[in-house]
Formats: sequence, C-alpha cells, structure tokens
Amino acid sequence: MKKFTCKEIMNNEGGCDMEFSGDEAMDVASQCGKHVASSTDDAHKPMREMMLNPNHTQEDREKWFMWFQGEWDKKKEI
Ligand SMILES: [Zn+2]
Repeated sequence: MKKFTCKEIMNNEGGCDMEFSGDEAMDVASQCGKHVASSTDDAHKPMREMMLNPNHTQEDREKWFMWFQGEWDKKKEI
C-alpha cells in the first residue's frame, strides 16, 4: 500500500494535507479526484479547474496519470 497527500497529488501546486492510500495508483488518484471535485477553496483550484475544464481531453487525463504513475513508482510502500 502507498500513501499520498493531496499536496503531493497536486504536485505542490496547492492542495491540503489530507492523505489518500491504496494499492493502486488509479484508486488513490480517484479518491483525490473526488475530494478535489467537492472542494470549493482556492487551494484546490488549479486541479479542480483542470478536472472540470470542458477542453480537458482524455489525452490530458492520460498525460496527468502518466506523471502520477511515475510519482507512485518512486514512492515507498507503507
Ligand atoms: Zn485537499
């Protein structure tokens, strides 16, 4: 299992200290996605706008996930 904070998932471009853990990168990313989608503050704005942007394509999504998968691979198991 690995654990990421909201900040780490947002590449330190905002976020908070909430932690998400799981066995799969996709699972942790979707937990954080739900958290960000339900946020209303400025700290989560960059990620929220990216997610809700109608011009945000599947390709952008995949590019983001490739980045996150790299972070995931670097992270130690807990
Ligand atoms: Zn957060």
